[in-house]
Amino acid sequence: MKSYKAAIVYAPGDIRLEEIEKSPLKSDEVFIEVHKANICPTDLRGYRGVKQLDQPEKVGHEFAGYIVEVGSDVTQFKVGDKVTALSWTPCYHCQKCTRGKYSACENRKMNMGGFGEYIALKESVVYKIPEHMSLELASCTEPLASVLKANIEVTPVQAGDTVVVYGLGPMGQLHLQVATLLGATKVIGIDLLTNRLEIASKLGADHVINPSKVDPIEEVLRLTDGEGADIIMVAVGGRAEAPCTETAIKMAAYGGKINIFTGTYPHKSIELDPNLVHYKELIITGTRSYNPKMFELALDLLANGKVDVKLIREPEISLDDIKTGFEIHGTKDAMKVAVNIR
Ligand SMILES: [Zn+2]
Ligand SMILES: [Zn+2]
Repeated sequence: MKSYKAAIVYAPGDIRLEEIEKSPLKSDEVFIEVHKANICPTDLRGYRGVKQLDQPEKVGHEFAGYIVEVGSDVTQFKVGDKVTALSWTPCYHCQKCTRGKYSACENRKMNMGGFGEYIALKESVVYKIPEHMSLELASCTEPLASVLKANIEVTPVQAGDTVVVYGLGPMGQLHLQVATLLGATKVIGIDLLTNRLEIASKLGADHVINPSKVDPIEEVLRLTDGEGADIIMVAVGGRAEAPCTETAIKMAAYGGKINIFTGTYPHKSIELDPNLVHYKELIITGTRSYNPKMFELALDLLANGKVDVKLIREPEISLDDIKTGFEIHGTKDAMKVAVNIR
């Protein structure tokens, strides 16, 4: 094959499906035929004008498929292997990488190109999928890995905790399932959209709150006998992340932890009462991406049916409709838009 189709973002609102010339495969690379992929807010930043584009860029970093070619030095893979991959390639030798903080690697290269028929990647970032696992499930490994990092490493959920998931988009729906798996006794979901509250209830949320109907702070206090929540995951994103973080801080229990899980854009600061943090010994932190260990765990949990993505990965579109997907992702009619490349 000399060329293949891939989606490229040129400017805000301008995404095109183009024929890309195939470059010769490097010796440490594998060439993957992409089958299933998902849209993620990270893919949309150039298209929605949140990020400055210095040059046209490939998009798509949540995907799964089959290896169709291997470089001469590749030792771990063969043609026909079913695989998914990290969404970035760390350098493994900068100060951050040597301390295990791969997601903050100073020389990190994004592995974009999942909204294309093929993608070439270094074998070091590629992971084999068990034969029985579907490619749809495997394509959700990356978002689940970030959720696991938050719930296990950054703000660890302990058995008996009350966990509030603020924002029930695709990530919020993963958070509530993971918090339940880790032993939270009460998981409370908050969102303005009725359909998202319904999905959360189906996926195991013990209570759901619509802040347009009741005061979320009062409601969380009521549901916790006035104590507040032990962990509040703020997974709202965009312009709502800052005001929701302010609200989240006010519903925390003594010693509570607030995890700012998504980026705020356009940038907005929050107002913080230092006395609340001091006297209640609150911890306010955040989670950026994941690490290879959490990626492996995510793959394992999905392969063993511990996390449900069926209600999260919808609607499904074809690669030809990628522009529509970019328009509807994150609106009330869509969860994580699934892109069926094949
Ligand atoms: Zn993603
Ligand atoms: Zn590095």
